[in-house]
Amino acid sequence: MSNLTIQPFFWRPTNLFPEKRIVSKTYEGITSYTYGEFERRVRSLLGALNDQGLGPGDRIGTFGWNHHRHFETYFAAPLSGAQLHTINVMLGDDDVVHIVEDADDEILFVDPGEPFDRIERLWDDLPIEEVVVMADSVPDTGVDAITYDELIEETDPIVDAEFPDLEEEYSAGMCYTSGTTGRPKGVEYTQKMIYAHAMMVMSPAGLNIDETDVVMPVVPMFHVNSWEFPYAATMAGATQVYPGPSPDPADLLELIECEGVTMTAGVPTVWINLLEHVDEHGSDLSSLERIVVGGSAAPEGIMRRYEDEFDVTMEHAWGMTETMSIGSVSRPKSYMDDWDRSRKYEKRKKQGLLLPGLEMRVVDDDGDEVDWDGQSVGELWVRGPSVIEEYYNRPEANEEDFEGEWLKTGDIVCVDEDGYIEIVDRTNDVIKSGGEWISSIELENALMAHNDVVEAAVVGVPHERWQERPYACVVSADDSNPSEDELLAVLDDELDQPDWWFPDEIEKVESIPKTATGKFDKKALRDQIDVVLEDD
Ligand code: ADP
Repeated sequence: MSNLTIQPFFWRPTNLFPEKRIVSKTYEGITSYTYGEFERRVRSLLGALNDQGLGPGDRIGTFGWNHHRHFETYFAAPLSGAQLHTINVMLGDDDVVHIVEDADDEILFVDPGEPFDRIERLWDDLPIEEVVVMADSVPDTGVDAITYDELIEETDPIVDAEFPDLEEEYSAGMCYTSGTTGRPKGVEYTQKMIYAHAMMVMSPAGLNIDETDVVMPVVPMFHVNSWEFPYAATMAGATQVYPGPSPDPADLLELIECEGVTMTAGVPTVWINLLEHVDEHGSDLSSLERIVVGGSAAPEGIMRRYEDEFDVTMEHAWGMTETMSIGSVSRPKSYMDDWDRSRKYEKRKKQGLLLPGLEMRVVDDDGDEVDWDGQSVGELWVRGPSVIEEYYNRPEANEEDFEGEWLKTGDIVCVDEDGYIEIVDRTNDVIKSGGEWISSIELENALMAHNDVVEAAVVGVPHERWQERPYACVVSADDSNPSEDELLAVLDDELDQPDWWFPDEIEKVESIPKTATGKFDKKALRDQIDVVLEDD
């Protein structure tokens, strides 16, 4: 029996659907080619990686958005036996340097534009020797870089006989996830894990992707394998549309209309922004059948509007970097067919039913499993072939976050009688804004670096567009009253993070509620703040 690797994912569409298309928006414009052409280019890239001696045991970093060249690295890197390490372009400089050092990437594939400018700026701190710019030309720079197109055009495509033998236990993917404290943690995926998860995602109980779909993953390729679309949709032989660098609503609408996209996926903020754009400018969403929404809770009002006004079903999914993205999806079961719409929405807005292949437990503070009664809460634990059993290089986190083969997700949930998971809270003190993490502890430490700040607590409060935004409460020393500008200045000095980390509000308070053990009582603080933020 052959190994469970991604090799057959490459074989199937290139042999059975060679004429189907992949559309990609890049810095240079829109490109479209067939799976046949994709095959030729991946074989060439594979040849180039082989020539450079890259294979099993090596890591190939990428730093870019969703387009065909990045998509090709998703195949060539693991097909060579090496590991594809996708790096989040939204992270601050320090985190990017840490991640490249920690992962010990051999080579970086980087987008031109802002990602490349960053790598150039950080060049002296990065232990990288070679950069490939994912474009047809290289910016004029001091960095030793070559273009992607030159790299593959100069190499002969490798033929089947030259394909490396792959083992299912080879590390094939890697992605970092943010923690409450400390640096991002590395999560590694083997060939077998990608095989298993792509099958789960493709299946009807997963996202139900097939050859008739025209799939546009908006979720970035630097976020958990773009929720597995590049592998699941390729294996299915679906037409794929990659929307390019930081796509705005107008870009997405143009692609939906021109390419006849049937299915797309991303965080709630993307779909809120798209709806606003459609309200203002009008548009044709008639091809679109489904939007997979996840990463943060799906707002019911938005789900209803897409359904009512455009006949588009929003499917709510939950997942984590540690579960290779999608781990559950919420659709009513068949015995709910004759339920009225509101009752079905009660299910659809939950995080849903686990994908086939996974198992779960809901565990309370005493370590006991709680009932599935729609009320009892506990931490969600999951296990299965797409769930990691340890972090890369982080023994202390391994100690805390796993119990045998169970991953303790940090999500506090209740499960109803029908088996639908609902997230009610999080154990980790982090804020998720538009799909990206912000550490409240880092913000608190930075604020407390101000001489007049005695205590600072930061919590995530609901925001209509970003789902959550940081809100800071600050207690100042007697007789002092630091101004908001001073506090923002200290954040600027202390934090090496992008501007979107800064709190939307900094409130001066007399005291911060505490738990019996003297820690900040964040739940009480959130209850006390009790606002829903909107755009300024
Ligand atoms: P991703 O990149 O898929 O967002 P992360 O590992 O960064 O993965 O984040 C995982 C966490 O995001 C989950 O543990 C949960 O707290 C939150 N999350 C993911 N999906 C949802 C959802 N549908 N509803 C609410 N929270 C979610």
